[in-house]
Amino acid sequence: MKVFVYSSRPYDRTELQRAASEKHELLFTEKRLMDETAHYSHGCPAVSLFTSDDASAPVLAKLHACGVQFLALRSVGCDHVDLRKAASLGMKVVNVPDYSPYAVAEHAVALLLALNRKIVEGQMLMQLQDFRIDTLKGYDIHGKTVGIIGTGKIGMAFAHIMKGFGAKLLAFDPIENPEAASIGMRYDSLEGVLRESDIVSLHCPLIPATRHLISDTQFQWMKKNAILINTSRGAVVNTNDLIEAIESGRLGGACLDVYENEKGLFFTDHRNDILHDQMFCRLRSFKNVIITAHQAFLTQDAIESIAATTIANLDALERGVPCDNELNVIQRHEDVVKR
Ligand code: NAD
Repeated sequence: MKVFVYSSRPYDRTELQRAASEKHELLFTEKRLMDETAHYSHGCPAVSLFTSDDASAPVLAKLHACGVQFLALRSVGCDHVDLRKAASLGMKVVNVPDYSPYAVAEHAVALLLALNRKIVEGQMLMQLQDFRIDTLKGYDIHGKTVGIIGTGKIGMAFAHIMKGFGAKLLAFDPIENPEAASIGMRYDSLEGVLRESDIVSLHCPLIPATRHLISDTQFQWMKKNAILINTSRGAVVNTNDLIEAIESGRLGGACLDVYENEKGLFFTDHRNDILHDQMFCRLRSFKNVIITAHQAFLTQDAIESIAATTIANLDALERGVPCDNELNVIQRHEDVVKR
């Protein structure tokens, strides 16, 4: 099948080509899918998309007019796709539900350690040959309380690592994971978890119910000096309220791999540009905020797994056989669930 692959980076291409072998004709662009680039897909029954792509209703209508019937997402999250519109156009959407929860969970831990143990500042001082350590004090994670919001695949992988550190585990999730009890994780309300935790890590999807889940009220609930980690989706946190919580000195720090307005910013070389996103510039300016540009998924293991599943999904779509990774919309819950 002819597949137009948007937002493709060199690491995607190598692994997708390898996984596709001779089975599919893959056409690549580094450009994002958006209104202006939708016509590139002309004559391709399938497109492959990443989280940076815009698959909103008007863009889907354009893809449909180009002959696209299938959307193969190379991500877990599908918040960048208007699934209702896709369904109304008869387009099938598939995702990669579990390529490597460890990649994201381990990155969340890397961010936490880098912030708490002042690794970035320590490295900068090292380069300056200033070998004083007075400003580099962190705290032990052992014995602290870690709150996990969303205990699916990534949340549980993160919980297991924190268990290894000797942390006490709390969780909030509308659907409790039966595995939680085996590692001593206790569920509570969102408020209960936020009030008790020294570290809070977000691992829920971005759906209507979780948009700005962490806003001013929730920052007020959080312990003074708590650390917030967000490797889920930027809009789960109200960024303006986060900035306020940092500026007021309430929050101890934030570890972010995602940002509310990251589309068009992350995954792109802006070295010669003036950034006009003042919210982002403000966020980046704080010493106790560490940001990576949506790289938590980026391990060799994850990329291989994403490519293998994407090609297997495309195989199933081409053959017209049921695909386990097809996404569907259950109107009743205003949510996205697997078939
Ligand atoms: P998952 O489906 O296995 O788990 C998500 C969990 O969130 C589920 O247990 C679900 O019940 C829970 N949840 C739903 N609504 C909730 C709410 N209101 N409050 C708390 N929890 C809620 O998904 P996963 O594989 O663990 O991935 C989680 C998210 O991580 C993805 O949706 C995606 O947005 C994000 N992600 C980020 C990266 C990255 O590179 N930064 C990579 C992969 C995934």
